[in-house]
Amino acid sequence: MRKKCVSGLRSSSAAPVGEPSGTGVYEVKPVKRGFPFDEMMKSLMDFFPEEAAPIITRISRGETSDPFVVLVGTLLSLRTKDETTEKVMETLIPRAATPRALLAIPDGELERMIYPVGFYRNKARVLEEVARTIIDRYGGRVPDTIEELLSMRGIGRKTANLVVTEGYGKPGICVDTHVHRISNRLGIVSTKNPHATEDALRRVLPGQYWIVYNSLLVTFGKRICTPLSPRCSECPIENLCPREGVARSR
Ligand code: SF4
Repeated sequence: MRKKCVSGLRSSSAAPVGEPSGTGVYEVKPVKRGFPFDEMMKSLMDFFPEEAAPIITRISRGETSDPFVVLVGTLLSLRTKDETTEKVMETLIPRAATPRALLAIPDGELERMIYPVGFYRNKARVLEEVARTIIDRYGGRVPDTIEELLSMRGIGRKTANLVVTEGYGKPGICVDTHVHRISNRLGIVSTKNPHATEDALRRVLPGQYWIVYNSLLVTFGKRICTPLSPRCSECPIENLCPREGVARSR
């Protein structure tokens, strides 16, 4: 018998780990019309090999992938290096590929299994609570809408969007700090936070790029268009970029 009832957790323990809540009032400023997305996306696809894709994209392309695996991987990957998430997933997924299997892992062992990831104690509790909610409320199947996913404690907009796009292959634009920063530097949007950027991108980004946009820009943001001093001299889309808000570059 399990010693601890996860439904008894305090609400703060199941807060989304390391991502904005996705709620609140915000203003969407005008977005740029007519941006050459075809040229931008082709340049980025040509520049980065497929194996450079972020961990969640690689997980979603794996043979054992399904929406629950994508959900677990996304929750673990928040504020954690891809290499660390990848190692943990290799040992965790054989024992936790479904919500029931995850809940069958004895208390304390789940924490030990995911230990190298950041905030592992909090993430272990979030994983257990999310798994229990999926069983109790959705019969064991991960919901496939942003609204249903956001209704579960511990899941924020980034996670919900990745489950919908990478887990189910349904339309959605996952906006994290990389996507938010780069979209603003390129002048595609002029927004204050990722939620506003998501809303603005939904109005200008052609549908065929919605799913892949996150994957490409995360890789691009880690390697070239970095937060503090972007490597503009190596940038494959420098000709398209007004460098909005960039004070220093390499
Ligand atoms: S030119 Fe510089 S700021 Fe613009 S997208 Fe490229 S790396 Fe980022």
